[in-house]
Amino acid sequence: MPVLVMKFGGTSVANLDRIRRAAKRVGVEVAKGYDVIVIVSAMSGKTNELVGWVNETSPLFDAREYDAVVSSGENVTAGLMALTLQKMDVPARSWQGWQVPLKTTSAHSQARIEEIPPENINAKFGEGMRVAVVAGFQGISPEGRITTLGRGGSDTTAVAFAAAFEAERCDIYTDVDGVYTTDPRICDKARKLDKIAFEEMLELASLGAKVLQTRSVELAMRYKVKLRVLSSFEEQSDEAGTLVCDEEEIMESNVVAGVAYSRDEAKLTVQSVADRPGIAAHIFTALSEAGVNVDMIVQDISDEGRTDMTFSCPTDQVARAEQALQAVKEKGELNYAELLADRDVAKVSVVGIGMRSQSGVAAKMFKVLSDEGINIKVITTSEIKISVLIDRKYMELAVQALHDAFELDKAA
Ligand code: ADP
Ligand code: ASP
Ligand code: MG
Repeated sequence: MPVLVMKFGGTSVANLDRIRRAAKRVGVEVAKGYDVIVIVSAMSGKTNELVGWVNETSPLFDAREYDAVVSSGENVTAGLMALTLQKMDVPARSWQGWQVPLKTTSAHSQARIEEIPPENINAKFGEGMRVAVVAGFQGISPEGRITTLGRGGSDTTAVAFAAAFEAERCDIYTDVDGVYTTDPRICDKARKLDKIAFEEMLELASLGAKVLQTRSVELAMRYKVKLRVLSSFEEQSDEAGTLVCDEEEIMESNVVAGVAYSRDEAKLTVQSVADRPGIAAHIFTALSEAGVNVDMIVQDISDEGRTDMTFSCPTDQVARAEQALQAVKEKGELNYAELLADRDVAKVSVVGIGMRSQSGVAAKMFKVLSDEGINIKVITTSEIKISVLIDRKYMELAVQALHDAFELDKAA
């Protein structure tokens, strides 16, 4: 029988009533003749609560125990979903990651999926099971420990299952009815897209649009998974939501496809380092060994052989960055004056494959921000995106102004 993957996010399984509603959607697809793999998230807010408990117990936690704790929310919803389906007379059972087994690397808290052998689940489909309810976000390491796939990781579980079982489609049910030109929660004029190209979705996700985890888009692109985002709160047709697809399948598109933001950024400046070969390598090796995810980097012009090096990273990694740079300074390996940290910045980006062939997008973006009196602190660009770091208090204003200026409320 053809296989369908259906993933329900936290708000879609937030209570028993919502689980019943999601189970009904699954029942509709089973009645159409599909064998269904349902991937569930934890009830909304649950994972945050679990992370909070770990941080409170031990701020310098053992990541293996972090994973043991934070993966547990999904176990509850998987069992409840299977019970609900059984009550509807749909043959179903739950699977935790290790039972499948969903094999991952041992990079605890941000493990990558290595393999999903389909035999165990297929054997049960062969015996008449119609729905495998799988706990999202979790897997098992080569050492036999529970791992998790990074926040938002159930999206990646879903796409990986769709690839491993050659599913006809991977439907991501969430609390919005598709992918929008920007987050509809901060911009009233955001417009739902019927289709979006993989590359644009990949950039939007990696620049902060949390509607899909970045890695899920990467996998869908690599394994040609038909990926759709749609609402679990509305009656759905086969054309509902947003299809993430190859750029060739999209007839017309705007130069800028969307605006993304990332709220919790910090800007750090290493003041007055020697301007000579090897200094950048030294700073960024120390940061990478400390597990700091450096994003944007700028080096100032040199003055009397010394320069400033500025970079950005997530706010919650500032302490780690400070510790790492202080340590190399104390060892005499790197000499700098001060390390300045600005924790009140946000990143705003415009994304679009049309930028490859059209110039002037950067100039327009900077003009829009300057007209709003917003100062740009750092800029980075790639072929299909431009990102700026600005004061966090202007983030929503910047998103809305850019959305207006690039007329994203209007279809191409
Ligand atoms: P789930 O719990 O179902 O995985 P998430 O909260 O992870 O849901 O992702 C859905 C949220 O993503 C939406 O509620 C919305 O606020 C946010 N979002 C950010 N950017 C976008 C965008 N471009 N299009 C749609 N939603 C977006
Ligand atoms: N429950 C996990 C999280 O909140 C995984 C997910 O929902 O995708 O990050
Ligand atoms: Mg999510």
